[in-house]
Formats: sequence, structure tokens, C-alpha cells
Amino acid sequence: MQINIFLFLGILILIISIIIGLKNIYHNKRAENKNIINHEEENKKDNNYDYDLIIVGAGLSGLTAAYEANKLTNNNIKILILEASSTYGGNSINEIDGINILLNEKRNDESIIKDNFSIYYNDSFEFGQYLGETDLLTKLVNKSQELVDLIFNDLNCKDLKIVKSEGSRYPRTFISNTSNTTTGKYLSDKLYNKLKKINSTKILFNSHFTDLLINSDHTIVQGVKYTLNNSINNISEIKNISVKSKSVILCTGGYGSDFYSNESILNESLVQLYYFPTFLTKFTRGEGIKIARNKGAELIYQRYGEIYPTCFVNLNDRFNRHKIIASDKFRELGGIIINKRGKRFCDEMGTRRYVGQNILKNCDIVTDPKIIKQYEAFMIINSAIKKEYGEDEINKYINDGFLIKYNSFEEFAKDMNISEYFDNIKKSINNYNEGSEKKYDQFGKRNFPYKFKLKGKIYVAIVTPCTFHTLGGVRVTDEGEIINTKGRIIDGLFAAGQIIGGIHGTMALQGNILTQSVVFGRIAAESAVDYIKEG
Ligand SMILES: Cc1cc2nc3c(=O)[nH]c(=O)nc-3n(C[C@H](O)[C@H](O)[C@H](O)COP(=O)(O)OP(=O)(O)OC[C@H]3O[C@@H](n4cnc5c(N)ncnc54)[C@H](O)[C@@H]3O)c2cc1C
Repeated sequence: MQINIFLFLGILILIISIIIGLKNIYHNKRAENKNIINHEEENKKDNNYDYDLIIVGAGLSGLTAAYEANKLTNNNIKILILEASSTYGGNSINEIDGINILLNEKRNDESIIKDNFSIYYNDSFEFGQYLGETDLLTKLVNKSQELVDLIFNDLNCKDLKIVKSEGSRYPRTFISNTSNTTTGKYLSDKLYNKLKKINSTKILFNSHFTDLLINSDHTIVQGVKYTLNNSINNISEIKNISVKSKSVILCTGGYGSDFYSNESILNESLVQLYYFPTFLTKFTRGEGIKIARNKGAELIYQRYGEIYPTCFVNLNDRFNRHKIIASDKFRELGGIIINKRGKRFCDEMGTRRYVGQNILKNCDIVTDPKIIKQYEAFMIINSAIKKEYGEDEINKYINDGFLIKYNSFEEFAKDMNISEYFDNIKKSINNYNEGSEKKYDQFGKRNFPYKFKLKGKIYVAIVTPCTFHTLGGVRVTDEGEIINTKGRIIDGLFAAGQIIGGIHGTMALQGNILTQSVVFGRIAAESAVDYIKEG
């Protein structure tokens, strides 16, 4: 019995010693890692940081992260924001649909009160075809509730109205109330104007992030490298700069325009979109994602991306890869779509995915698909729709060459060289008008706001599907920390916004991408501030 007790105590002491030993090894390793810096930086002392936090990308997620980090520290934090383009806002300022917020008990409206966590979560999960990182989606939905304070109190955004978006069972999408600004621009302007006034936050434009400063075993990030494009007296000068920082948040967005580089993520993982045009900015090239991957970050969901069904083709610059969006509003107000053989082929009011897929199925690619995959269709509105859309906006599209005015369908057919299909056009219009009487047509369409006349003014756009959101990116914890391929957090490296992979499964619920930018901008800022405080 006595021997057994001694044996037991002996084993216990051995186990405790092993645990203490392992812990020491871990701590020593961590401390050692903190002292190993990229060889270029060896001559600098470990605590010789230029900034507490560097944020790469001044889209909505980057601006939100900067705002939140300042708020959490009462502006007691030295921040550098690097932005490759000459202005802030990225793709966020062009968004059209708004931002989702779970309101439930915070509002009195009957229909909103019924909204709750599981309804919003399930709407999003269903839209993404039940794929995606459920912990991140849970965080997005839960934390969206906190945006009420940020948006309505801190930023004092009054010009927002609430609508029910495609895929949402209740109204929860806040959208700009004024026609001269988008929701993303409205929020970005408010954030930027606040940040401008904070001396310890510096925003550098034309500053292209090119690499991370990281220790030799890629476990601790200690700054960034970037090139600064200075133009003095029309002479452009590029400087390579390294800057040290205690933490870095990557907010460089997605990779929908990634058709410039040799190591294109689109080409690697989403090749069906590689030759599509896009309306995303030219810096939507996944550079943050690729740099993080080179330092060991794990990428997930890269093969998922969406197309937007209708972007304008300008005949004066027909094959430019960068297009502008022809918004859903054209279809929602009663615009019709036909192919070049004069045939309608879908319910124009269907979802983006449905309309987009039908354009791909029923319209032709107009040039070598290895140069650009441009499936072209005609989108047509009449004077009543023009009026409802907004005369000024439509006139601007006409002036810019995106819409062409005709006095009849015959004139349109002649001008577009499709007169041989004029009989089909006549049939399509007659069928549409009959459908309008019956409130039903062969495509299942039930809503026909306006009939079309063969003679009378029409406005025609050539439209093509374009790359929209990409849904892959870096793997993060639900605290926004970037994880490497071995499942370990890369210390000091965080992500926010569209650079994060896997939140939305195969498709983002309308309004959820802006929510993702703001929610994860705040989360990444909080994690970075905690990390900085830990030392
Ligand atoms: C026309 C349009 C409509 C949209 N509609 C909706 C919508 O209705 N609802 C919705 O939820 N979302 C929508 N989106 C998507 C949404 O606006 C953005 O994708 C989202 O806000 C992403 O924000 P972000 O901050 O992650 O990225 P972005 O806003 O794209 O910002 C990334 C920034 O990083 C910069 N950057 C990139 N690489 C580098 C580098 N190497 N060095 C320095 N800077 C770099 C870019 O220049 C950019 O400013 C839409 C997007 C567009 C373009």
C-alpha cells in the first residue's frame, strides 16, 4: 500500500515537472521569436517600433478598424493606414445594397421585432448554400446588433432607411436615403472625416503594401514593406520603405480583379471567372491574401465567387475589363432583357444568380473568350421606367454612352444590326404584353409594371455579367487573428473585411458584405489593441 502511494506521488511529480518544462519551453520560444526579426531589421532594437498598428487598405473595413482602435484607446495609439490608390473607400464606396443589422427588440416596427438571431443566421446560411465557417457567421450576426450604436450614435448617420433585401425574411438592410451617395460611401465618408482629425493616425495614399516584416519562422509579424509612389512635377518616383509596427491588420479586400498578376488567385482557384469583366477596383487583386499566404497563412474558400448579372458595356470602349454596374433597379422597375436573336429568356425580376446564369445560357460571347468572356444581352426600358428611375440619372447614362435612345424597336434592331431577328423582337414584346394582362408568362414572371409599345421611345443598354464578390481569403479565428497552415495564430497579424475567407459560403446575403467589413473591422481592432497591451 505504502509503495503504491510513493509510486503515485512519484508519477504525479513527474507529470507536473513535464508540464512546467513544456510551458517554459513555449514561453522561451515565444520570447525568442519576439527577438528574431527579419534580417533587414536586425540592427533595430525590438521595442523600436514606428507604429502600434498598421492597417493596410482604406476601404470600409480598414477605416472601421482605425476608428475602433482609436475609440478603444482614447486615441492613445499610433496608427498608420496604407492605401494603394489615391483615395479612400475601395470597393466599399461603390456598393449599392446597404448594410444588414439585426435589430429585433431595439425597434418598434412589428415586422422588425419578429427578426431574431436564428432567422438572420438561417437566411444567410441558406443563401450561402449551407457552406461556410459557422463560427464567423455567428459572430457576424451577433455583433451586427452593436452597429446600431456605431452608425446612429457615434457616426450620426441620419440618412438611412430600412428595407427588406433579396433573401432576407424581414427588413434589416439599412440603405442610403439619398440618391447622390451609396451606403458604403456614406459610412466611409463619416469614418474618414473622424480619422482625419486624429493626429496620431496617419493615412498614406499611393502607398502600395508589398510584404510583411516577420520573424524567420513566420510566427510573429513586426511591420510591413510598401512602395510609395510620389509624383513631383509630373515625375513619378517610387520609394521602397520598411516600417515597424507592433501589429498589422490586413484590410485589402477580395481578388475579383486579379487578372493582372502571374500568381492570380482567380486563375488558380476560380478560373471560370478569370476572363470575366469586373466592376471592382483595379486594386481588388488579392495582394493581401497572397502576401499572407507567402508567410504561412492558410487560405480557404478561394474557389467561390459571384457574378453580377448586368454591367454596362460602352460601345466606345467595348472590351475594357473594368465596367460599371447597371443596377438591379432597372429590372425591378420593369426593364426587360433580350438576347441578340430578339428573344426574352427569363423573369427579369428573378434573383441575381438566376438572371446571371440565364444570360450565360442564352446569350453569346462576343469576342475571344481567352481575352474577355463578354456575354452580351440587351436591357430595355421605356419612358415610364425612365421617369420612375430618375430622369437625371438616366440622362447621365445616355450622355456617358451606356444607354442609347431609340424611337422604336425597329430603329433599335437596325442600329444594332439585328434586323433579321425583328420578328422575334415583335413576338417577345407581344408575349410580354399578353403576360402583363394575365399576370403570368412562360418564365413564371408575375409582376409586369409597364407594357412596352413597338413604336415609342425606348432606352437600350448592352449589358454583361461581371465578377462581383469573391468569397475566399485568409482563415481567421472569430477574433480576426490570421491562422497559418499548421493551425497556429500568426502573432500580431489580423484581418478584416472581404480578405477573410469563408464567412458567406457560396454567396453573400445581400447587405452582409458591408456588415462583414464593419463587424470584423471592429473585432480585428479590438484584438490588435489587446495584443499591443499584452506587449
Ligand atoms: C458596385 C459594388 C456593389 C456592391 N454592392 C454591395 C452590396 O450591395 N452589399 C454588400 O454587402 N456589399 C456590396 N459590395 C461589396 C462591398 O462594397 C465591398 O466588397 C466590401 O465593402 C469590402 O470592403 P473591404 O474594406 O474589405 O474592401 P475594399 O472596400 O475593397 O477596400 C480594400 C482597400 O484596400 C486597398 N488595397 C488593396 N491592395 C492593396 C495593397 N497592396 N496596398 C495598399 N492598399 C491596398 C484597395 O485599394 C482598397 O481601397 C459591392 C461592391 C461593389 C464594387
